[in-house]
Amino acid sequence: MRTEASVLHLDLDAFFAAVEQRDKPSLRGKPVVVGGVGGRGVVSTASYEARRYGVRSAMSTREARSRCPHAAFLSGRFHAYRETSERVMGLLRSVSPLVEPLSLDEAFVDLRQADLPDLAVPTVTAFAQDLRRRVVEVTDGLTASVGVGSSKFIAKIASDLDKPDGLVVVAPGTERDLLRPMNVTVIPGVGPATTERLRRVGIHTVEELETVTEDEMVRLLGNAHGTWLFHLARAQDDRAVEPERETKSVSVEGTYDTDLTDRTLMEGLLTRQAGEVATRLGKNGLSGRTVTIKVRLHDFTTLSRSSTLPSPTDSRTTIARMARTLLADLDTSGGVRLLGVGVSGLADWVQEDLFGETAEAEEELPEIVVPHHSRRTWAPGMDVEHEEMGRGWVWGSGRGVVTVRFETAQTPAGPVRSYAEDDPALSAWRPPEPDPAAGG
Ligand SMILES: [Mg+2]
Repeated sequence: MRTEASVLHLDLDAFFAAVEQRDKPSLRGKPVVVGGVGGRGVVSTASYEARRYGVRSAMSTREARSRCPHAAFLSGRFHAYRETSERVMGLLRSVSPLVEPLSLDEAFVDLRQADLPDLAVPTVTAFAQDLRRRVVEVTDGLTASVGVGSSKFIAKIASDLDKPDGLVVVAPGTERDLLRPMNVTVIPGVGPATTERLRRVGIHTVEELETVTEDEMVRLLGNAHGTWLFHLARAQDDRAVEPERETKSVSVEGTYDTDLTDRTLMEGLLTRQAGEVATRLGKNGLSGRTVTIKVRLHDFTTLSRSSTLPSPTDSRTTIARMARTLLADLDTSGGVRLLGVGVSGLADWVQEDLFGETAEAEEELPEIVVPHHSRRTWAPGMDVEHEEMGRGWVWGSGRGVVTVRFETAQTPAGPVRSYAEDDPALSAWRPPEPDPAAGG
């Protein structure tokens, strides 16, 4: 644990919903729910207006609809989330070289590398306030909550204390007072099973956890977990901000705005991704034993499946074959939004090939074209363009009719029009590919 508050955690508020409200003026100030809109769908993010009705992340969309029937239920636009996230991560990297992203909307920043005159509480507070203002600027209006503390653990707790649009700096020396009244579930890694085990011995709060000796904790929860909890209960967390976390695994993924349903296409995409992973492994002289695929279904369920080899590989053919085999076990009939391949368990050397295979021939990869619109489905929230009306988004569809609201982030709330689902004047809209000549 550091003696100064120099670890910053930034968390964008209700991120997916906030991006939707930014880009859809008619939804600003209204309840918005982003997630799976189908029968088995779950809520990914609810706007604060929807949370007032008790809608929460991970709740079934069915439950959310019954609590807040007048909310806008949107299926999500990952291209927009990714693009906005990149702007925020770019800002963070401009203030410190040590930035560790945890997801699209969350990152740690090491302030020791941030070129501040000192790390006293007033200095880091002013810095964090200014950073929050710049987040609003670069995202065109999104807010972030920020926590600053003497460790990752404390910074992450702090960013959650005054959400949304808040800032909490935990002064060094006050960490344990902050933690004591909190439920043990604030400690990362304390899930339902651990909570239940602790509850059975009468421990609910961090203060109660503090009374347990390290030996007792290890007896109760095992070596690694017990030691971890013993130290975290005392705010002892020395984990570094690690910008290069991804070097422990190499992965490639792609998100798609329309549901992929064609197996051959998905296998082709995985094969191409496996090739990219293999190239990156090769370039860095790395190899790994575990191949993982990640699949996000149309209802936002994210699945991952792994398989581990007896020895490390950097072979594109082997990685691709394993990835396709892992996909074969998944039910993707409802449509897929994201596919990815990763290799982990890395060694910085390639082991002699135990199977005696000779150098493989490069697998011929067919040209893969992801259809603009693999099925002519109009997912609620998706971006569309009409030949005469211009850009808008799908408000709803069914019974052969699609209803569109014509507005963008740059316009006032716009008009609503309905069309036949197969109206040739209406098409899905994708942002233009970044122009490589433009630089930056
Ligand atoms: Mg967030």
